[in-house]
Amino acid sequence: MNESTISDRDLLGIDLFADDKDDAGARLSSSRMVTTQKAHACRFSSTAHDIPVGARARVESAIMDDRWGRFSVCRDCLEGWFRETEVPLP
Ligand SMILES: [Zn+2]
Repeated sequence: MNESTISDRDLLGIDLFADDKDDAGARLSSSRMVTTQKAHACRFSSTAHDIPVGARARVESAIMDDRWGRFSVCRDCLEGWFRETEVPLP
């Protein structure tokens, strides 16, 4: 597997809710990088795909519309987003 120079910390620094935080009523509670124990649907891409078992993914836990929600985004999508936006590091 190709090692990336983008760290987990970089990927966790991406504000996935930057554009529609207010619209969605989302209050982000936690986000962390995990190695998936079972397959999840990636919620980032407009092209639906699954995150395979054993892959790196960012798991978000947030309160949306006063209900707890949890979703996963695969590392590939995060890296694509990171490169596209070139988020300046603090
Ligand atoms: Zn994805």
